[in-house]
Amino acid sequence: MSRVHMVRDKPCKDCGVSESIMYMVNDLLWQIHGVGSDILCIRCFCKRLGRKLDRRDLLDCEANDVNKHFINYFMEGGCYEKDR
Ligand SMILES: [Zn+2]
Repeated sequence: MSRVHMVRDKPCKDCGVSESIMYMVNDLLWQIHGVGSDILCIRCFCKRLGRKLDRRDLLDCEANDVNKHFINYFMEGGCYEKDR
């Protein structure tokens, strides 16, 4: 029960930017904060979430492992620093 989040194919619903970063969050989180079959870049997902990403939010999968350095940035609150 996981959602593959292919940012490459579609622009982000919130900011309209296409990013090539793929990440997977758990289904419950996506149901609450996600946009269904649409796409959110990790930056906008973080904003909707309203807090830092937690390791438990993310699935243990290859996509997250490949992008872990990028994702770590958001787990450390990088998206918020950029907005301020
Ligand atoms: Zn976005």
